[in-house]
Formats: sequence, structure tokens, C-alpha cells
Amino acid sequence: MGIIIKSEKEIAVMRQAGKIVAEVLRIVSRQVKPGMKTRELDIIAERELKNRGARSSFKGYRGFPANLCVSVNDEIVHGIPGDRVLKNGDVVSLDFGVIYEGFQGDAAVTVPVGEASPEARRLIATTREALESGIAAARAGAALGDVSAAIQDYAEARGYSVVREYTGHGIGREMHEEPQIPNCTEPPYGLKPGMGPVLKKGMTLALEPMLNTGDWHTRVATDRWTVLTADGGLSAHFEHTIAIDDTEPEVLTRGVYA
Ligand code: MG
Repeated sequence: MGIIIKSEKEIAVMRQAGKIVAEVLRIVSRQVKPGMKTRELDIIAERELKNRGARSSFKGYRGFPANLCVSVNDEIVHGIPGDRVLKNGDVVSLDFGVIYEGFQGDAAVTVPVGEASPEARRLIATTREALESGIAAARAGAALGDVSAAIQDYAEARGYSVVREYTGHGIGREMHEEPQIPNCTEPPYGLKPGMGPVLKKGMTLALEPMLNTGDWHTRVATDRWTVLTADGGLSAHFEHTIAIDDTEPEVLTRGVYA
């Protein structure tokens, strides 16, 4: 299949999809508070999607039962919203994808519940900055491995590990298109700087670093969805859908966080 280059017209539709992702995720993330069940966040996401004429990319994807992934504390990604009650000090990652007029948008944000510890707040801020550093490296003419290196270098210089087995991805009509976008440079998971495909205008990519306070190893819960840190350390996740342009990339899901 290879990497699919999008036309201006297709990117215009992805801009609409991305705007919906950002608006809904912003609304949902501002509702996060102690005492709330994670399912309530999914209900808000569903209502806001309907209001905008879009549908969830996640619901029904390989049987995933919700509109939104909600991953708490040592959960990294793919948490299923349910009866878990959020507590003051928890760290909540919200990952959300939509389909609008045949095209996808995908983004994630991590927020503290009530008053988080300085350690948790630093992890959240660094993960967001690691994403921004990957986006800054995603310029036409750069190699994909330059993006991977930018993310990993930013995270590790600040004492965090990057999750290996889950990666960013191309995105378009499908949620997951080529290429896979590792957040590290070491084989077998990673791409070294200067390696991998050269970025070109019209490529549309979802970058999504996951940073852990402990090491990068993961395990999957008995629900067969939720991915957790193997050592029980905290994890945070940020994601944006971007379009490669002539110079700097355009962030199609901008506006999720201030
Ligand atoms: Mg994604």
C-alpha cells in the first residue's frame, strides 16, 4: 500500500475532522473531576460527536466498546471507560478519534484529576513537549527517524522512558495507514535519525508519544485492551494529527489544550 499522499481537497476534509476531535476532546478534558466515573466521559464524547455529525473511529474498531479511550495512572493507552471512579491526584489520558466525511482525525491529551503531584504534572508537561518536539522535526525533507529521535531525546533528557511497542501512524481514510511512527530510535522498534521515509507535503501523520516515569516495558490487562506499565509507574500520552507542508507541518487537531 505505501504512504498515501493527500490532495489539498482531502486535507481540507481532514482539517474538519481534526477540528471536531479538538473541540470534543477539549470539552471532555475540562469535565474531568474527582468522583466521576470514566464512563461519564465517554457519554459526553458521544453526545458532542452526534452534535457535530461525526462518528467515533474507536467504537467497534476490532470490537472496542467505547468512543473514547480513558487510561488512568499506570494505564498507558486503550483503557475502556467504565465504572472506575476518578480520584484526586489521578492522571487521565484521553484518546479520541473521529470519522467525518470519510476521513479520520486522532488526538490524545493527558490531564490531572483535581490536584496532581508535582511529579505527575511534570510528566504530563514533558509528554506534551515531547510531542511538540516531534512535530517541530516533522518538516518536508526530514526523515521519519528524525521525528522519532526528537521525541525520544526530549523525553530521556528529562528522565522519562518512551513506550516502544505502540507507535504513531499514518492516517487518512483509515485510522492506521503507513508508516508506523516509532517514538524511539533503537531496533527492533525504532528508527534511527536519517532513516525511514522522507517526509513530503501531503503526508498526514498521527504522532503520539507515551512517556513513563519508570521503564518502557508494558503489559496488557485481562480485558485484552488496556495497556499498562509493567513496573506500575505513571504514564502519560499526547497525540496530534498533522499534515506535512512545504515548511512546517500543519497541526490538524490543534486546540485540544491551551
Ligand atoms: Mg493514534
